[in-house]
Formats: sequence, C-alpha cells, structure tokens
Amino acid sequence: MIRYIKSARLTQGATSDPAVTETVTALLRDVEDNGDAAVRRLSVKFDGLDRDSYRLSDAEIRACIDGLTKQERIDLDFAQTQVRNFAEAQRATMLDLEVETLPGVVLGHKNIPIANVGCYVPGGKYPLLASAHMTVLTAKVAGCDRVITCAPPFKGQIAPKIVAAQALAGADEIYVLGGVQAIAAMGHGTETIQPVDMLAGPGNAYVAEAKRLMFGRVGIDLFAGPTETLVIADDTSDGEVIATDLLGQAEHGVNSPAILITNSEALARDTLHQIDRILAILPTAEIAGKAWRDFGEIILCDTLDEMVAEADRIASEHVQVMTADPDYFLTHMKNYGALFLGQRTNVAFGDKVIGTNHTLPTLTSARYTGGLWVGKFLKTCTYQRVLTDAASARIGAIGSRLCHMEGFVGHAEQANLRVRRYGGQNVPY
Ligand code: NAD
Repeated sequence: MIRYIKSARLTQGATSDPAVTETVTALLRDVEDNGDAAVRRLSVKFDGLDRDSYRLSDAEIRACIDGLTKQERIDLDFAQTQVRNFAEAQRATMLDLEVETLPGVVLGHKNIPIANVGCYVPGGKYPLLASAHMTVLTAKVAGCDRVITCAPPFKGQIAPKIVAAQALAGADEIYVLGGVQAIAAMGHGTETIQPVDMLAGPGNAYVAEAKRLMFGRVGIDLFAGPTETLVIADDTSDGEVIATDLLGQAEHGVNSPAILITNSEALARDTLHQIDRILAILPTAEIAGKAWRDFGEIILCDTLDEMVAEADRIASEHVQVMTADPDYFLTHMKNYGALFLGQRTNVAFGDKVIGTNHTLPTLTSARYTGGLWVGKFLKTCTYQRVLTDAASARIGAIGSRLCHMEGFVGHAEQANLRVRRYGGQNVPY
C-alpha cells in the first residue's frame, strides 16, 4: 500500500503551461517575421544585452578561454574528456548494417550525422557551462558538420566560462543569445544566421516549449525542461544524504520537483527533519525551499515492486537509487532519464563531470525517450538492392498483389513491370 508522508501542494502538468505556450508562440512568430531586428529587441527586453551582432568574434572567444584559471581549464578538460570518451564508446555501437534477408535481396541502413545542429546552453539563473559538453561536444562526436550554439548573457554580460566550454567543445559558431529568441534564430534562421536542421539542449520552460513548437520545421532532441529528481532509498541510507541530494536538485528552480520513495517510515521522518535543517543554512534555500514546499513529495511503499511501479509512474528525469540492492531497480525500472546507482554517486556527478549526458527527458517524457546521446544526432537511413532477376520477380509478384489489396493500381504496375521484365510473366489478380 502507498502512503504520502508529504504531498506536493501543486501538480506538474503533463504538458506545457498554456500561458507559456501562448507567450512562446508569439515570440517565435516575431523572430520568424522580423529576423535579426526581433532577435535584438527581445535580447534587450529579456536579457538586457544590446549588440549589433550576437555572434562572438574569435577575439572574444579567445579572451574567454584565456580568462580561465589553470585549475578551471584542467577541470573543464577533464569533464569534456569524460563526456567525449563515453560518447565515442556509444558512437562505436551505432553500426551501419547490410544483410541479405532473402536470396538476392539486400537490405541495409546507414547512420548519417545531421548536417546542421543548434545547441542551446542554458544560463539564466546559473551559467550552466556543462551543457556545452553535453550538446556541442556530443554532436561533434556524432560527426555533425556545423554545430552552432547559443547561451544567454549572465546578468547582462557574456558568460565567459560558458563561452570557453562551448569553444573547447568544438562549436563552429557561438552566439550570446538566450531563451526563445535563441531557439527561433537557430531554428528559423535570420538574415545573419543560417538555420539549422535540428535543435538540442536543455532549458527553462520557455526554451523547452520553444523547441517543442519548432518540432516539424526542425528536429529536436527531446523535451528537456526544468529539472526533476527522484530518490529511491531504504534503511541502508540516511536522511542527511537524501535531503542533501533532493535539495541539491531543487535549487535548479522553483518548479523543480524533488521526490523520495522509500519503504522505511523512520527514514522518511529523518529526511523531513534533515530537509528543514539544511534549508536553514543552504544559500539557495529560497529557490530550493519553495520547490520542496510546492512540488516535494515523500511516498512510503511496502514492497520493492510498489517502489518500482511508483517510480515508473513518475518517470523522473533523474533517479538516484540508494538501497541494499540498487541493481534490482536497474533490472526492473522502465521509465527514467538516467539512473544513479548506489550511495557513492549522485546527480551532480552526472550533471557535471562523470561522462553520461545531463540533457534528459522531463514532464514524464521518459516514458518514451532516454536522454541526449550521439544516436540522437544520427539519422538511421535504410537502403535496398535486389541482386537477381529471380528475386525481383518473386518480390514483385507478392508486392503487386498486396498493392491491389490496397487499391494502389499504380504501385501494382511498378511491381508488375519488374515481374514481366525479370520473370517473363504478368501477375494475375
Ligand atoms: P535558460 O537559459 O533556460 O533561460 C533563460 C532565458 O529565458 C532568458 O535568456 C530569457 O530570454 C528567457 N526568459 C526568461 N523569462 C522569460 C519570460 N517571462 N518570457 C520569455 N522568455 C523568458 O536559463 P534558466 O532560466 O536558468 O533555466 C535553466 C533550466 O534548464 C532550469 O530549469 C534547469 O532545471 C534546466 N535544465 C534542464 C536539464 C534537462 O536535461 N532537463 C538540464 C540542465 C538544466
């Protein structure tokens, strides 16, 4: 049986907020209609930055890289190396395929990198430089030709550490642009920005909604909105580590849910107590505390299977498992963006440094997709070849009759012509 030790005061919608959709629709239209002039106007309005060109020059980019301290450069290189290593290992699993499925019938597929990609790196509340490795670098490992990237200014100025990360990740063009105007500029193109074929990267509700509305005109990686975290724990864990990990993610934003599922009531009570204690000293308590009060939950279950079922229902972006047997959840869970197994790891490792991608599905989209990875930047395109007359006549005869079942006379004739030409007979119906 399931009991709520703490319930959320507000519920996350299963889709975007209608007010956000309305705002974003108007902003996308503005950039589509008015190009660079709208981009500039909206950048001034939302981000307080007025420039003739929002593309950074080589000198500006070089200054950002040179401005890193020695330790910052070492740490950034380390993180990018971990992301690159894992992405390259994943890329190696994306094999082209060619197989003879019937005598004389050869089918295959090729994984073709998407040519033009636009990567969004968020930076409104915090300069989220890690998103540069996760998006730009991953697209480059996939083999995309042109990878452009946008990040907003931070407090009205270029965010130098984001720019350094974007450049070191291999970006071909870097723009200091945020929010809907960035997504629209990359997706629609402007007088000065060539449009891309696909948009990738995380962002706030406006950014995520802008990408969703652009889908169709361009491809998108996934719906990666405001962050969510779920901890699954039993009495082998303790309230301090759980409270730290929940609040460590709730500080992303006031709309970031943080949830605990446990089978231990004592642990649930200890976690509540520790959350109050930490909120009293956490510098980001204003945001994290509001997120916890509005969206925080503690769910008490009797069995492991109930815990799995609840976690799959919630389909959280991040799921930390701190139980006696974390592999039970790896084996049985089906809906999550990324799993963090055991006490020694946590979401911050994945967000910043360990090497898995932090661009992950939110708002239950983990029901149908995993997170960003090299495979999302590849198109798996099929081809076919028929090697013998006999194979052409055999497929043609069956295909011709199937076309007739659908009433497709022209299709049937395409097939039938091959049967006459390569098999020497007409297909009777
Ligand atoms: P952001 O860069 O996503 O958004 C900042 C931009 O929002 C600004 O440049 C501005 O143009 C626009 N904006 C702000 N208020 C607006 C309004 N009222 N109308 C229209 N546009 C507006 O940065 P952020 O706000 O700090 O958000 C980052 C988000 O990214 C967080 O919610 C975080 O949880 C999320 N995130 C998600 C993932 C994931 O994989 N799902 C990963 C990392 C971060």
